[in-house]
Amino acid sequence: MSVTAVVGANWGDEGKGKITDFLAGDSEWVVRYQGGSNAGHTIVNQWGKFALHLLPSGVFYPHVSNVIGPGVAVNLSLLLDELDALQARGVPLPKLLVSERAQVVLPVHLLLDRLEEERLGASQFGSTRSGIAPFYADKALKTGIQIADLFIRDRLQDRIGRCLDLKNPLLVHGYHQLPVDSADLLNTLQADALRIAPYVADTTALLQQAVSRGERILLEGQLGALRDPDHGIYPFTTSSSPLAGYASVGAGIPPYALRRIIAVTKAYSTCVGAGPLVTELMGAEAQTLRERGGDGGEYGATTGRSRRVGWFDAVATRYGTHIQGATEVALTNLDVLSHWQEIPLAVGYRLDGKVEMKFPNSTRLAAAEPIWETCRGWGTDISAIRDYRTLPQPAREYVERIEELLDIPMRLISVGPRREQMLVKP
Ligand code: GDP
Repeated sequence: MSVTAVVGANWGDEGKGKITDFLAGDSEWVVRYQGGSNAGHTIVNQWGKFALHLLPSGVFYPHVSNVIGPGVAVNLSLLLDELDALQARGVPLPKLLVSERAQVVLPVHLLLDRLEEERLGASQFGSTRSGIAPFYADKALKTGIQIADLFIRDRLQDRIGRCLDLKNPLLVHGYHQLPVDSADLLNTLQADALRIAPYVADTTALLQQAVSRGERILLEGQLGALRDPDHGIYPFTTSSSPLAGYASVGAGIPPYALRRIIAVTKAYSTCVGAGPLVTELMGAEAQTLRERGGDGGEYGATTGRSRRVGWFDAVATRYGTHIQGATEVALTNLDVLSHWQEIPLAVGYRLDGKVEMKFPNSTRLAAAEPIWETCRGWGTDISAIRDYRTLPQPAREYVERIEELLDIPMRLISVGPRREQMLVKP
């Protein structure tokens, strides 16, 4: 039995796509289990650079079955467009399976997401406007539409009616918009159904069989632990759980099967959208880190927005790895720090005049100030190094200090955006 989850330890954008892509070569299955097109996993390989939003990161390997699990918010037209775009760039058509129990993101979810952010104005959450919050609200209200519903006209009509009964009064009276026409929505969904039909399957049964055959399954989380609605920085969270614990639910895999949980963290901090970020940098320092970070700068893969940046935060990351239940940590973007002679990292918080080593709840977090420790920089390019032992001594000291602070073994260390830029720590 070999089920591995690759999940985020922080606020998202940790480089999970890179790690999943690296591990997918040795897997038979790669599964998305929550979230939707608000994700943006960046992958750089022999075909070029891709920002995957809905497709699992195993789509570049012909032997991998890629699953969209029941927990995912499926924007059908975006999913199909993404598939077409891969083929247009020469990637062979991947094996894709979409759960018949997954629910669909409707155009009205996108509309409501945008209208609500506009209504909030300066206090908006910084949503990617992919319709995710209204989608999961509908699921909880039991007014969502499952993919299986798309193929039975009467049932689909009934489900649309139930959904619009609530949405149209809100659109008309709350946001002063025109109501959604149910016949138009029916036509749109039926057209999407025809296109998605070849990929629809009972993925839960297929994955249960794969587990019992001992096949290798990779579960791919979206966003990071601190965006979890229960354990994260609520209300600056997402609407589904990005935790490995939820992977079992959103994919349909027995919890006991999950043996390896890799929490991915960057060698510094980044965060898209609003909410407290204790180690945040501002001004010129932030701009330097932003420009040097990631692959061509720290700009969101979904929205292109500037990411907020800061130094590594051991308090937040330790909490993130613990709520993920991480069995190991993967560190990405170490190469980005090659520029600095000294690298600060936050080893604790100062809060209410006291030293705090635990991650505080949302009511206290905004007042937390970092307690810094300074590590030696290495000042030389490490992106071509392939053996951990040949990293400059200060780079190894930095990695090992983080490992010590997190108290979880670190195995994979990424030194560049490309697949082969990876070190396996002995
Ligand atoms: P994800 O959603 O967690 O997969 O993360 P994103 O893809 O949104 O953001 C990670 C960014 O870092 C992308 O631009 C990646 O190409 C880039 N990246 C991943 N690993 C590395 C690395 O080790 N070094 C550098 N320089 N960039 C990396």
